Amino acid sequence: MERLHRRIVAIILLTIIFTPITLASAAEKNEENEENKELDEATLRKGLYQKTEALTQVPWYLIAAMDQYERNIKKTNDEDRITGIQIPNEEWYGILPPHANHNEKESTLNLFEGIGKDGNGDDIADPTNDEDVLYTLAMEIQQNLAEDQKLESALTSYYEREKASQIITKIARMFKHFNTVDLSERAFPIPKWNNYSYRSTWGDTRGYGGRRIHEGTDIFAGYGTPVRSTSYGVVEIKGWNRFGGWRIGIRDSYNIYHYYAHLNAFAEDIKEGDIVEPGDVIGYVGASGYGPEGTSGKFPPHLHYGMYKDNGKNEWAYDPYPYLKRWERNR
Ligand SMILES: [Zn+2]
Repeated sequence: MERLHRRIVAIILLTIIFTPITLASAAEKNEENEENKELDEATLRKGLYQKTEALTQVPWYLIAAMDQYERNIKKTNDEDRITGIQIPNEEWYGILPPHANHNEKESTLNLFEGIGKDGNGDDIADPTNDEDVLYTLAMEIQQNLAEDQKLESALTSYYEREKASQIITKIARMFKHFNTVDLSERAFPIPKWNNYSYRSTWGDTRGYGGRRIHEGTDIFAGYGTPVRSTSYGVVEIKGWNRFGGWRIGIRDSYNIYHYYAHLNAFAEDIKEGDIVEPGDVIGYVGASGYGPEGTSGKFPPHLHYGMYKDNGKNEWAYDPYPYLKRWERNR
């Protein structure tokens, strides 16, 4: 009896001693895993943008949007970098010949009218260093803002392109709104439990509007079937188009314009400038289009979905079909 009693006490003691430790270490492990998952490139980049904001007072989401725009229009081959902003050599070094070893002081560059600056405090203005580049960019924008007053014109003059300014201000709004730079989630445009069918029709010739090819995928569904946004984005256009009928255009943070046409109706209250998320209902399937405003029923009801990518110079359509297939599987 005595021995059993002691055993029970020992077991209780052991349980008390070890259980919290085991629980604590398990919790710690979970937290660590979470942290590793969180500490991806987007998080690292956001940290850099915030640091640049602290140094220059230029909002992080604006710097982030400019970086996103530049990464959207070209591929950076530099593996040491996590941002994509490139400042041309002639801007960075001024009239000083560029150096392969990137070891000029900011004061030297200034003498030669170079704009390169030292953002990380190592006394070198290095055009391949993320912190130096972001700091330099932010200071340029800050200066343009001081001269021009308006952000749109500051961006237009920096990129020498009005559309760049329009795209960047939209991306900046999205980043600010969602407080993240990772807006990569996608959704299939037709919600679950609705009947629909589609096949690859990219490049087919069309019967209306002359020599046009089919730039999109037609998803056939009944009148009034909800149509959802496939991406995060800003509503850029909403209204009537002779070809597309009641259509809505949404631009995402990857310079992609999503085009939803032949709608029966729009989602209530949706308007140009609104920010949407993947899965938000934006309208309803119809058969509008192929004529003056209000024309409907010239073809079976379907959603025409198109995707257009802006490459920094112009915008071109590409086939959404493979993407739709992927989003359909993931929903
Ligand atoms: Zn179509």
